[in-house]
Amino acid sequence: MFLINAIYLDEFFRFAKGDIEIDESTNTIKGLGEKLVYSAEDMVVDCSGYRIIPGFVDVHIHGCVGYDTCDGNREAIEKMAEFLITKGVTSFCPTTMTAPAEILAASLTAAKSCAENPPAGARVIGVNMEGPFISEARKGAQKADFIRKPDFALFKELYDISGGLVRLVDIAPEQDGGLEFARLASEYCAVSVAHTSADYDAAKAGFDAGINHATHLFNAMSGLFHREPGVVGAVFDDDRVYAELICDGHHIHPAVLRTAFRVLGDRALVISDSMRANGLPEGEEYDLGGQMVTVKNGKATLPDGTLAGSVSNLHDEVKNLVNFGIPTEKAIKAATLIPARSIGMDAEIGSIEVGKRADVLVVDNALDIKAVYH
Ligand SMILES: [Zn+2]
Repeated sequence: MFLINAIYLDEFFRFAKGDIEIDESTNTIKGLGEKLVYSAEDMVVDCSGYRIIPGFVDVHIHGCVGYDTCDGNREAIEKMAEFLITKGVTSFCPTTMTAPAEILAASLTAAKSCAENPPAGARVIGVNMEGPFISEARKGAQKADFIRKPDFALFKELYDISGGLVRLVDIAPEQDGGLEFARLASEYCAVSVAHTSADYDAAKAGFDAGINHATHLFNAMSGLFHREPGVVGAVFDDDRVYAELICDGHHIHPAVLRTAFRVLGDRALVISDSMRANGLPEGEEYDLGGQMVTVKNGKATLPDGTLAGSVSNLHDEVKNLVNFGIPTEKAIKAATLIPARSIGMDAEIGSIEVGKRADVLVVDNALDIKAVYH
C-alpha cells in the first residue's frame, strides 16, 4: 500500500515531502520518496495536509486501563497492548516492579507468550525489570518488603524464563555487589541506574562497570548540585548513558526538561512509567505493587504524597514537550528512535526508513492521531 502526498519525518528526523510504500505482507517500509509509482490495484491513501511520524516506543510502562505487568498473566499484557495502540504506541516493554521472584517469573512468562504470539495492538519488544535490586533508601513507590540485594544468579534465572526478552534491568550500583552485577548483566541487556543513593563517584563507577541507562532521571536519585554533581551530574557528564525522562509535567519541571534535552541531546528518551490507572477515571484508588495509589489532576500518589508512576502516555508527553518549547522533531525522536536505540532495537523500529517496520502514525498539525499503521 501507499501513503501519498505526505509530510513525513525522515530517518534524520527532518520533515520531508513524499510518498511511503508499505509491504503489507511483511509490514515493512519498502519505498520512500517523491512520486513513487503505483498501479490501479494498489491501495493508496492520500495523506495531503497530514504528517506521518514513527510509532512511539515506550520502554518503561507498568500498566494501564486497570492492568499491570505484575498481574503476571497474559491477559494483562494483551489489554495494555490494546490500549497503547490507540495512543500511537506501536512497541513497548512491559515493566515489572519490585515484587517476589514467583510474580516476576509469571510476568516474564506472560510477556514471552505475547512476544511469541502477538495479541492485537502494540507489540511487546522486550521486558524492563525495574527492581528488585534497588536501594531501600530511595525506593519511591517500590515496595520495601520485596527489595533484594544484587543477585546475578536470580537475574539470569529470570532472564532465561523470559527467553532472553529482558532488555533492561535496574540496579542501585552503590550496594554490595552492585558493580559486579552491572558487569555481568550488561552482557545480556542494558543496565540502568535506578532507585539509588549513589553519589557522583558511585554512579561513575557504575557506568565504568557497564551501566548505560538511567531510569526516570531526577526521580529516586541524587540531583545536580554544583559541588556534588550526584547521579544526575554523572549522567549529564557521560556520553555512554541514555536517560529516561517522564514528561508528564509533574515528575520534572518544564525548565528542567528543557535543560535536560539541551544537555543530553540524542541520549534523552521519553517514557511513560505509567501504572494501571492510566486510561481510567480519576478520583478512584488503585493498587501498585501492593500499595494504594490515588489519582488526582493527572498525578498518581501514595498516601504519603510520593509520586507513584504516571497516568500519562508518550503521545501526551510529546505534546507536552512541544508546549514546553522542545522542537517537534526532537520531541518525537526522543519518543521513537532513541528509546529503540537504548535497548538495541533501532535496526528494526524507531524511524521511517526503508527496511524497518512500517509502524507509523498519521497526525494533524496539532499532533492529534488520525490513523495508526503497524
Ligand atoms: Zn517504573
